[in-house]
Amino acid sequence: MSAATRCPGCPSGMKGPGKYLCLGCWNTLPMASRRLLNRRDSRAFARLRQLHTQLDRGVPLTDIRITA
Ligand SMILES: [Zn+2]
Repeated sequence: MSAATRCPGCPSGMKGPGKYLCLGCWNTLPMASRRLLNRRDSRAFARLRQLHTQLDRGVPLTDIRITA
């Protein structure tokens, strides 16, 4: 699986394999959220869930907060 897939954060972006968002959306996230999402440990999946939950609710990228 190496093909780019649809970015969940915007209507037209494509994200690379292993990425959570396209580069444009990623760069729009608050720095603190990006730092947490970049950690790959046992909580990584829980953080990804938080990101997707907020995207589903329509939270703006600039307001997405990761707490795990
Ligand atoms: Zn995007």
